[in-house]
Amino acid sequence: MSDREVLARLRAELGDALDTTDASLEAARADKSGHASIGRPLAVMHARSVEDVQATLRIASATGTPVVTRGAGTGLAGGANAGPGEIALSVRAMDRILEVRPDDLLAVVEPGILNADLNRALAEHGLWWAPDPASRDISTVGGNIATGAGGLLCAKYGVVRDAVLGVDLVLADGRLLHLGHRTVKGVTGLDLTSLVIGSEGILGVVVAATLKLRRLVPGEVCTIAATFTDVGTAASACSAVTATGLQPAIMELLDAAALTYVAAFISALGTFLYYVMLLLGNNRRDE
Ligand SMILES: Cc1cc2nc3c(=O)[nH]c(=O)nc-3n(C[C@H](O)[C@H](O)[C@H](O)COP(=O)(O)OP(=O)(O)OC[C@H]3O[C@@H](n4cnc5c(N)ncnc54)[C@H](O)[C@@H]3O)c2cc1C
Repeated sequence: MSDREVLARLRAELGDALDTTDASLEAARADKSGHASIGRPLAVMHARSVEDVQATLRIASATGTPVVTRGAGTGLAGGANAGPGEIALSVRAMDRILEVRPDDLLAVVEPGILNADLNRALAEHGLWWAPDPASRDISTVGGNIATGAGGLLCAKYGVVRDAVLGVDLVLADGRLLHLGHRTVKGVTGLDLTSLVIGSEGILGVVVAATLKLRRLVPGEVCTIAATFTDVGTAASACSAVTATGLQPAIMELLDAAALTYVAAFISALGTFLYYVMLLLGNNRRDE
């Protein structure tokens, strides 16, 4: 089927969810990896509901058109990059929190909600979804699930795999599956939720997720820094901390190369701020 016919079918069934503007097609070629596909995709579909996702996939299957699912496009592996002849299916607009159950420590969300937005809303209930990729302000929960994301706190509080009870998944032919459970003890059957986590969209589109929450940790954060003569000694110190049974929220080892970059950055920032202040001072004198 020609590209024109595929677009006509998408437009007929999904109306203004279909986006073929230059800017959107261009943006869908790349993620934050710095790499882009060789050309623009056929269309960007902005799904607003599960039904939109199902309809897009049904048309794509019937017409043999490849689909690339997209959250916020912060991935670093090119998995969300759509190319010529492909449909970029964005779920970013599906960003509702469908349910929060503080007593059961779970929430049900749509995939397009940003990790940080979810956590801001959960904080009002004294709750928290622990996976914390450094991109949490700009990446979606669906993308976190599809990449199996981990973050700085993962050694203590786990990665995405430890914090998802179930997902709703739309298959390539448009069928909707409800996978997983709503309780920690729900362990019967094949663990298909785990299969979906980290599958980068190749098994289907995550259209909802049941998340396992934690209560917010009370108290002040205490940061301790220590310096060592070499990396080997620093690594031994990390092992020694773990051996005591203490569990720091984050333990980060910066080697000499990393410290050199940090120092260079701080020095460049200082010089920049110095000139900004100078410029502001001159402008004030001119007034
Ligand atoms: C500054 C920065 C810091 C980062 N830090 C971390 C970090 O600490 N830890 C870490 O793990 N990653 C990190 N990342 C990588 C990236 O942010 C994560 O992989 C994030 O989980 C991707 O989410 P996204 O919404 O941007 O997904 P996208 O980039 O849009 O998509 C990523 C992949 O998931 C698929 N996908 C997206 N949504 C769905 C869905 N609903 N259903 C099915 N498949 C889907 C896409 O097809 C693609 O294969 C970082 C990236 C940046 C730019």
